[in-house]
This record gives sequence, C-alpha cells and structure tokens, in this order.
Amino acid sequence: MTPGRSCERAAPEPDPTADQATKDAMSNATTVSPAHSASTASTLITNIAALVTNDPSLGDGTPLGLVQDAAVVIEGDRIAWTGDQSKAPATDNRVDAGGRAVLPGFVDSHSHLVFAGDRTQEFNARMSGRPYSAGGIRTTVEATRAATDEELEANVTRYLAEALRQGTTTFETKSGYGLTTADESRALRVAARHTDEVTYLGAHIVAPEFAEDPAAYVALVTGEMLDACAPHARWIDVFCEQGAFDGDQARAILTAGRARGLHPRIHANQLSYGPGVRLAVELDAASADHCTHLTDEDVDALANGRTVATLLPGAEFSTRAEWPDARRLLDAGVTVALSTDCNPGSSFTSSVPFCIALAVRDMGMTPDEAVWSATAGGAAALRRTDIGRLTPGAYADLTLLDAPSHVHLAYRPGVPLVTGVWRRGERVL
Ligand SMILES: [Zn+2]
Repeated sequence: MTPGRSCERAAPEPDPTADQATKDAMSNATTVSPAHSASTASTLITNIAALVTNDPSLGDGTPLGLVQDAAVVIEGDRIAWTGDQSKAPATDNRVDAGGRAVLPGFVDSHSHLVFAGDRTQEFNARMSGRPYSAGGIRTTVEATRAATDEELEANVTRYLAEALRQGTTTFETKSGYGLTTADESRALRVAARHTDEVTYLGAHIVAPEFAEDPAAYVALVTGEMLDACAPHARWIDVFCEQGAFDGDQARAILTAGRARGLHPRIHANQLSYGPGVRLAVELDAASADHCTHLTDEDVDALANGRTVATLLPGAEFSTRAEWPDARRLLDAGVTVALSTDCNPGSSFTSSVPFCIALAVRDMGMTPDEAVWSATAGGAAALRRTDIGRLTPGAYADLTLLDAPSHVHLAYRPGVPLVTGVWRRGERVL
C-alpha cells in the first residue's frame, strides 16, 4: 500500500486569512505565550533523533520519510528546510530538540466540538451494562439549544486547548446539535471563529420536531437551513445510517450542498452495512467516516476512488463496538485517516495519540501507518497538502515528543508525550 498516494494527488487549498483566525484561537487557548511573533525570522530545530516528514523522497524512503539525526528550519509560518542536521543552513534562532522525535502536528479531520452538556450517565450506564433510556444525540441537542453563545464558545475553546496540548494543530468540526436553522447556523459561526475546516451537519439526525415527517426535515436541511449555513461552512456532511438518513436522503442532502459550493463528506457504514461509502465515492466526497461495516464492493470503491476512509476508533472504544478493519483497507490500497470523532456521546476524547494507540493495538495498523494516517492522512481527508507534512513550503505545524521515536505514541499509550507544539511557525506549547 502507498499511503502517500492520495495526499500527493490532493489539491492544496490554503486559506491564509482563515488560518490566521485559527492560529489566534489556538494560541489564545493555551496559557503559554508564543516565544516570538510570526515573522520572517528563521529558527533551526536541531538534534532531532527521528523526524517524520511524510515525504517518501526523504530519509528512509518509506511513506513516513523518516530522517534520523535531523533538523528543520522554520521561516515565518512555513517550513523552509528539512534534512540531515549536519547540513542545516544558518538561522537567526536555534532550538535543541534534545534527541527527541518531531512529527507534523496532528490533523484531526473529524470532530463535533460545538455542543453543551455532557452524557456521563449514559456512558456510565453503557459501561456498567445497565439500560439507559435518555435520548442520546437528542440530549445534547436540548442542551446545545439551551446554551448561550458564550457557553458554546467557551466549550470549543476548552476542547481545542486540550487537543493542542496533545499535538493537534489542525481540526475540522461540525454543527449537528442544533437541528434548527438558527441553531445550526449559530454553531457554524462559533466553529468558524476557530477553524476554516467547518462542516454543516444539519443532517445529523432528524430533528425531534420532525419525527413524524422526516421528508419535511430533509426539505428544511436542503432549503432554508442550507441557505443560512452555507456561507459559514466549507463542507456538508450527513449521517447515512439506519435510524438517521437513508441513501436517497443522503444523496439529496449532499447534492443540494454541493450546488451551494459545499464539498461532501459522509458519516458512513458506522453501525451497519449500507450505501454510504459507495455514495461517498460516487459523489467524490473527501472522506467516508467510520467505515466499520464494509462489503468487498465498498472496499473496492474506496480503493478505486479519491475518497479517504477516516477511521474513528474512539467511537468503537467508547461504545464497545466492533473495530473497523484498517488492515483490510490498507492492503486494498485505500488511503486511511485517523481522527478522534470528539463528541459528548460516542467518543469523548480529543486525543489523537490515544486513537493511534488503539489503531495499532486493535485495528491492524503498524505504528508508522497510524502516525501517517493521523497526519498526512488527515490532511488528505481535508484535501490539503499544506499541512500534515514537514517539507519546504508546508505550514510549520510541528509536534515534539518527549521520546526518541514516533513509535512511542503506540508503545507508551496514555502517557502525555507531547512536550512542544509549533503552529504556523509559532511555538504555542
Ligand atoms: Zn462524527
């Protein structure tokens, strides 16, 4: 398998204006001030025992492009140079990595961070084998609708700070807990203050008010709600699943979004077999997310299309569900991304390192593959080549581990190994 494949083919779509807002938000979310403001000053990070570049033409020739005894030069918000530390050019500043590992900042291409309330009792009941009759997603919808803008904003900021401390430098996030025109567009406005990877998920479930008339809800999602939401989002998503939206409804929703300039991604084949993955490939969705229940036809479709399979092991962990078979996808040549699915119901983790450990332990991925999928794979799932790699021209988003190798992310599960983070050239942790 060639994990670099789709990333190579993906078109770069940087948006410097929006990136600035994200950078500010993520910087403000930490208590650590940047060491210096972004400028054209150059900084050498040297004495890196193992550098993951995700450029197969560098280092050991694997998809990770692993360079030993390496150095990186940051200039402004970009990587200016990568290679053997003995050949590094002169710079204004110098940072000694102390024989540790450096890798691209994680790209978490699937999260649901705009919500209020939590579902501790539901999780506790599920893990204790007790019945629990509260309303799942509906519980979060009620709490989110009742929250003030300030409460939603504070929640997003808090979870972003959490993610940043664990090495995430880019994240996608969605609406989907409002399910009215006003609440969905509000969620997207909140999200857009923190990232340019914003997804309209009015079609998360049928809103409770439309339980008897799902067709009317689809009409709302593809009509008035879409009109209000499209200006604040880049992507459109649908939960294509029994009990949510069927293949025909999903097609109608994604097609309507595409007509308004939003690009599709799909929650597909999470709980059962279904049409979601094939629909994703047919519509050239950037990503089919979950991919837990796949037929051979689904795998073939992914292998022959441009759609990334994004695996979200936090969801299987938190619901004690069957793991997605990453090995089967990788062996078929499918590009795989790993993300958190951070949400209050089925996967309340913001930790990409935790997901890497699960993917290696339980989904048949090697440590190299899991790290690739959480960096370059996430970038491919967002159709970006300016992140998820440490090569000249890419954004200077780096994670420094307190470990000599990226393999420690799986080898030392649960240990807070991230000891430094640079985002857009600024040290933010
Ligand atoms: Zn999700």
